[in-house]
Amino acid sequence: MERRLYTARLARKLLLSDPQQCYHLEFTIEDLDDFPFESGQFVSMVAPDQKGKQQTRAYSIASAQRSNHFDLCVNRVQGGFFSNLLCDLEQGQTVKFHGPHGHFVLRSPLTQSIFIATGTGVAPMRSFVQRLFPESGEDRSEGRSIWLVYGTRHETELYYRSYFEKVAAERPNFHYLTTLSRADQTWTGSRGYVQDLVARIVEQNPCCAPQPEPPKEGATFGAYAYICGLNEMVAANRERLTSLGWHRKQVIFERYD
Ligand SMILES: Cc1cc2nc3c(=O)[nH]c(=O)nc-3n(C[C@H](O)[C@H](O)[C@H](O)COP(=O)(O)OP(=O)(O)OC[C@H]3O[C@@H](n4cnc5c(N)ncnc54)[C@H](O)[C@@H]3O)c2cc1C
Repeated sequence: MERRLYTARLARKLLLSDPQQCYHLEFTIEDLDDFPFESGQFVSMVAPDQKGKQQTRAYSIASAQRSNHFDLCVNRVQGGFFSNLLCDLEQGQTVKFHGPHGHFVLRSPLTQSIFIATGTGVAPMRSFVQRLFPESGEDRSEGRSIWLVYGTRHETELYYRSYFEKVAAERPNFHYLTTLSRADQTWTGSRGYVQDLVARIVEQNPCCAPQPEPPKEGATFGAYAYICGLNEMVAANRERLTSLGWHRKQVIFERYD
């Protein structure tokens, strides 16, 4: 199917993590005044490779809707085509894309929610958090407890850490939990995998307790988990949640591989 291609111009670029080479990229869409999307969705970036073959890759939008702008969080993959093209873009250069796409969006009405991410899987989580807890304007979290459980290897890879810490300091119903799998000795926080922190949240918070019966037609579960990252991590968290009694429909996920 022919999709309409838009042109995004790189307005700002920040290196988030030096050894890992992860970039925060802010784009402005040239041919639109407004770009409506739901937090959690992705765009499909399109460019010809060295042989002239059109390549397309998905990237989660790392910001909430804001006129004709969107942010991405992109990891440089060694030998990869598109991640290097994006990470090498200079301010003012353009790239084509289509979208928005995807169903990894917050269920409505909003419930208590556990956001679970590793690496650049944090991109849609930043969009969710910006949407629920905007810096100015109305809080959309409706007082629900929202956890962001974020795991990575090293402390330098906790992307957007100061932003999430600020939101957590300002909003009592937002909880930011991190864990490192290869922390050095100076790290005093949690170690290990995200699923262990997730299990602790479920066991310690009655609002996340398993529901013996799925809700009646049209109703929602009391809590949902939203998982984003590489397949191995997504599978481990789905298994852990279902082993704790969660219904598989309470677990929404986006896989990057
Ligand atoms: C819905 C969706 C959303 C995504 N959102 C993001 C995002 O927000 N940020 C982001 O950085 N990526 C994201 N990805 C991954 C992205 O689409 C690409 O797969 C990734 O950037 C690698 O593309 P490439 O062209 O550089 O590598 P390719 O040229 O496609 O692959 C080169 C080599 O790298 C390996 N490889 C491919 N992907 C990865 C990976 N993710 N990690 C490690 N090795 C890999 C391949 O197996 C291959 O050997 C998302 C994927 C999906 C499906």
